[in-house]
Order: sequence, then C-alpha cells, then structure tokens
Amino acid sequence: MTRDRARKQAIRSAAGGDGYARTARMHAEGSRAVLTADVQRNVVQAFRQAGWPTENDGFPEGGQWSACAGPVWSLLSRPGGTNWDAHPDDAERHDLTITPEFTFTAPLISINTGEAMVRKVPGDTPPPELVSQVSAAVARARGHEIAKLVDDAQCAICGDRYPARHLLAPTAAQEVAVCPSCVFDGDLFGTYDPVRLAYDIDHLWFEELAMPAGWAAVAALLACAGGKAFVERLKRAGVLALPARHWSDLSQLWIWLPPRTRPAALDGLGAGAGLTRVVEAVEAAHPDLRERFRAQRAEELELDENEDGRGYLVEQLWPAVIAYAVALATQEQERPAHRPPWHVLSDSFEPGALAGCFHELGSNLNADGLDVCFTLEVGLQVVAGALDWNVHY
Ligand SMILES: [Zn+2]
Repeated sequence: MTRDRARKQAIRSAAGGDGYARTARMHAEGSRAVLTADVQRNVVQAFRQAGWPTENDGFPEGGQWSACAGPVWSLLSRPGGTNWDAHPDDAERHDLTITPEFTFTAPLISINTGEAMVRKVPGDTPPPELVSQVSAAVARARGHEIAKLVDDAQCAICGDRYPARHLLAPTAAQEVAVCPSCVFDGDLFGTYDPVRLAYDIDHLWFEELAMPAGWAAVAALLACAGGKAFVERLKRAGVLALPARHWSDLSQLWIWLPPRTRPAALDGLGAGAGLTRVVEAVEAAHPDLRERFRAQRAEELELDENEDGRGYLVEQLWPAVIAYAVALATQEQERPAHRPPWHVLSDSFEPGALAGCFHELGSNLNADGLDVCFTLEVGLQVVAGALDWNVHY
C-alpha cells in the first residue's frame, strides 16, 4: 500500500480532496444514510487508540476502503453494491441507508499462505467493540495456525525445533538458520547480513500469522541500533519491496502479547500492539525500571556508594529491551512444549556478535564495549522480573 500511496494522493488532490465527501454528507443529512467515509475514519481511529499500528489511504478504490491494522487487512464496502466504479457514498448510485460492512482478513498478504482469518463485521458496530472483536478473532486465528505448525527443522545453535521457514540466517552463512534467541550468539560464523535478515523478517511478518513472536524483538534491536542509517541501507538494498514502516518508526512495530496470562501492565491491550504503546504501558506500570537496572548493575559490579551503575544503560536500546521481555514471554506461552526462549541470556547476547552486526547496520553504537551487552542482558532480566516472568533457561 505504501508504494501506491503517493500516486493515490496525487489522484485524490487532483479530484478535489474532501469535496466529494462533503457533497455526500449534504445528501445524507436528515436521512438514515450511513457514510462509509465516516465509518472508515472512526474505526481506523479506534484501532490507533488501542495502540495498533494503522495505515490507510483516506479514499476508496474500486468501491472499497482499505486499511491495515496490525496484522489485519480491512476492506469496507456497501453490501449489494455492484457499481464498483462509484464512490460508496455516491447517493445516486448507492443506497446510503444500507449499512456498510467490514471484511477483516489476516495475514496481510495471503496469496501464498491462504487466509487464516476472515471476519465480517457490520459497519455500525461501535468502534471499540469492533476492535475487541477483531483482536479476539486474530488471536484465535493465530492460536489455530500455531497449533498446525510442523517443526521440521532445528535451530543451528540451540537445537530447538521450529518449522524450517521460521528459522532465519543472520549472517552470510545462509545455511546457518537460527531461532530468534540465537541471532547474536557467539558461535555464529560469517559476516552479519542484517539487510537480508530484515527483509526475511518482513516476509514472515506479512505472510505468516503464526510467525514466532521473538522475531519482533530482533527487529526492535536492529531498528533501535541501526536507526536512520539502517533504513537507508534497506532502501538501497535493491529489493523490489520498500522496507516496512516499522524499521523507521517503532510505533509501527507489532508486538504479539502473551495470549494466556498477562501482568497487569499489559491488561488494557489486545492481541498485540505497536512497540511504542507496549513501552508506554510497561513504563507506566513500572516507573522504577531504570532505578532497578542501576541497582542490579551496581550489585553485580560491586560498586561502592559513590559509583553509579546507571552509566551502563544504553538508552537508545531501551525499547528493544522491553520488546525482548514481552515478545519472549509471548513466545514462551505460545510454544509451551519447547525450550523457553529466555536462553538468550545464556551468552546469546555476545559482544563480538553484537559489534559485528551493529557495524553492518551502520549503527552509531559501539558494541565492543560491555555497555550494549549489559543493557540487553541486565535490562531483560530487570524488565522481565518487574513483569513477574521467570527467566529460566
Ligand atoms: Zn536457537
């Protein structure tokens, strides 16, 4: 959708922007007419308020409004309409008293994998109720997809079993495919290729509703460490697709949330949320996380009262720390028969591996020192501990 956005916006401005909607609204006044433009706007806004990354065009195409909300694709149209060239609010070509209807599908691209979820919802459903329904439906669909997975391969580092397509190769050694916990393990060999890894993560994200939750944590770390330089490298990679928006905007990075039990901090959220919203929720519930980090570092380093462990916290990576804690907790609940993914804490944030990867990202961070490794390892323990998750491995 992003690729076509500029073209569509050009068409829209040539057509006079909102002028059409205003005319339709005048037609609608005093009748029982329901305008699809209003329904679409209100629902997109409700998803956004619920913390879901959203993207929409602001005008209909082929008689339908489309949008993305997290992992869900939405189409809004007027049932019974056969005039696909007409604006769905054109009173002369549609009966505006017919309630429009949403069709929500997931994954976002289902050409190769099929639709794991299809749900129709009447357009007059109150938007917060609609968001709850879609959230519950996509969580159920993901659960069903995960239950169907066949673990026909194993991580080259930890040996945990996964579907082969869910293991990705972080380095130029393409045959060494690993799970999300082992991406920065010291036993990996070859030069890191984070551009390919990012596009491989995007491929899973768009096509696989059952993708392992932990890949979002890896994406968060690449995005936080790489910043704009990494986004430029992704754009220059010569890949036909544009990089997904989450590489440049953490509010767009979807984090699946634990499906069964949750700490109070995440209570108000649905099946998942954008990373920025997840960070806000965790920090609002636990405003002392940095203080806890400082205390734990000081204890480990046996600092005396005049020294301060806070200096070891690399603030730029903090959203990634929270992403790791939450995404790995989700993965643990979703794969109960497997090794808990917390084994990332047993030397799988290895300074040399992190430094090698950060260099290839174009990161401004020097991971050769211990600050980056401390931030991730200690931060993950602190955040998971605050959320009452037991990081056994
Ligand atoms: Zn592994």
